[in-house]
Amino acid sequence: MAEKTTSTATLRLSAGELRIAHPITVPDAPVPARDVVPALQGLVNAVVAAAESGKAISCRKGCGACCRQLVPVSRTEGERLLDLVDALPKERRGEIKRRFAAAEAVLVPAGFMDRTGKTDRELSTAYFARGLPCPFLEEESCSIHADRPLVCREYLVTSPPELCAGPAQDGVTPVAVPKFSLGARKLQEEKDGWFPLALLMAWSRQRPRTGARRTGPEWVQRFLKNLGTGH
Ligand code: SF4
Repeated sequence: MAEKTTSTATLRLSAGELRIAHPITVPDAPVPARDVVPALQGLVNAVVAAAESGKAISCRKGCGACCRQLVPVSRTEGERLLDLVDALPKERRGEIKRRFAAAEAVLVPAGFMDRTGKTDRELSTAYFARGLPCPFLEEESCSIHADRPLVCREYLVTSPPELCAGPAQDGVTPVAVPKFSLGARKLQEEKDGWFPLALLMAWSRQRPRTGARRTGPEWVQRFLKNLGTGH
């Protein structure tokens, strides 16, 4: 059997005042977009590390206030997360799916699957008001920390943690992190598609079953093009 090969290149990116040089390794063969998600996670980690450098971050393990916010997830990340859930031991998978079903029972009737006519701001305010914990949240910590979505990585605050639980989030000071997560949204589709993470299972029942295969470097080029950034 032929050995799988990868390519590594150092991406040099500018985002505002940040300058990032990050080595990224991706498969050479044509693969589904979800196969480059780990490489994109590494890139976002590097961007976040540069953005938070020198700042006093308040976020700590065991504080899951922000895990009750609407987490927008792209098709590509959704497919990766479905693989992750499918690979869980049976009992644990069942528990996670029960939590998704409970969230779905609240969110679908409330119109979070069909978001026509609602602004992102209206949706996130209405979502947070429901106080629904993310199905992956356990003991106020992320149970999939290494695999969490890109947008979760980009959210850090310097304000006192108790403010994050406030109904209007008054006084919360997020770190200005360039939103590289947006590059994943149009990786497979032309439109800026996303769905709330808590509706992962509902989305999976109506998601497209086929998708393009591209080489790892081609997916990364597409991701960077979506961001309008050079390397
Ligand atoms: S995936 Fe993890 S970090 Fe993101 S909202 Fe859920 S529990 Fe929180």
